[in-house]
Amino acid sequence: MLFDSHCHLDAPEFDRDRDAVVARARAAGVRWQLVPGTHREEWPALRETCAADAGLHAAYGLHPTFLAHHRAEDLDALADWVARERPVAIGECGLDHYLEDLDRDAQQRYFEGQLELARESGLPLIVHARRAVEAVIQAIRRVGRVRGVVHSYAGSEEQARQLQRLDFLIGIGGPVTYARARRMHRVVATVPLEQLLLETDAPDQPDCAHRGERNEPARLVAVCEAVARLRGAAPEAIAAATTRNAARLFGVATEGA
Ligand SMILES: [Zn+2]
Repeated sequence: MLFDSHCHLDAPEFDRDRDAVVARARAAGVRWQLVPGTHREEWPALRETCAADAGLHAAYGLHPTFLAHHRAEDLDALADWVARERPVAIGECGLDHYLEDLDRDAQQRYFEGQLELARESGLPLIVHARRAVEAVIQAIRRVGRVRGVVHSYAGSEEQARQLQRLDFLIGIGGPVTYARARRMHRVVATVPLEQLLLETDAPDQPDCAHRGERNEPARLVAVCEAVARLRGAAPEAIAAATTRNAARLFGVATEGA
C-alpha cells in the first residue's frame, strides 16, 4: 500500500474524471494522498475534494508560484482556516528561484509567515524548493523548531543530511525515473530510508514512460519501483517504509487499512 505524499488532485486537470482517477489509484495500491493547497480562493473546494474519500488528506497553504493571487492578509486568513479545519499539514509553501518574474522578497515573507504558523501550530510543512534548497534550509534554520518535507527534492546529498538534522524528509517523484537524473539517483540510494517519501505531484512531473502526459496518482507505483531498484530493495519494503514515514509525519493512521 502506497501513500502519495504530494498530489494536486483538486487541479482543474482532474475536473472531468476525478473519481475515476482516485479509483485507479486505489486499484494500483495507492491508498492515501496528501493534497496540498496553493492559494486562498481554492481552499474551500480543496476541502470538498478531500471530504469525498477517507484516503484524501488536505493541507492548506500559499504556494510561491501563485504569488500574484496572494494578499498580505491571506497569512492571517490561513492561520484562522488552519485553526478551524485542523489539516494534517501546512503547505504548499516555499521558494521558487527558477521562475524569474516572482518577487523573491515577497516569496520570502509568505514562506516565513507559514514557517512561523507551523511552529505555533505544531503542524508539519510541505515545502516547494525549486532552485532554492539552500535558501529554504536557511529560512528553516532561522525560524527553527519546525518539521516537514521538501517535496520534489533536487538538492545534494549534503543538503539532504542538513535537512535530516532539521527534521525534514525529502519527497521523490517522477524525475527519479529518468536515466539522466544521476545526482538524484545518488541521493535516493544513500539517504536513510526514514527520510524518504514518495510522491507523484500529479498532474505534473510524470515518470519517463508518460512524458508530456497528465500525471496521476496511480503512477506512484513506477516511482516506488525506481526507488527500490536504486536502493537494491524490494518495492514492497520501500512501499511499507515510505507509507510509515508519511503516516508518522502527517499523523495519519495507516495501520489495519
Ligand atoms: Zn505541488
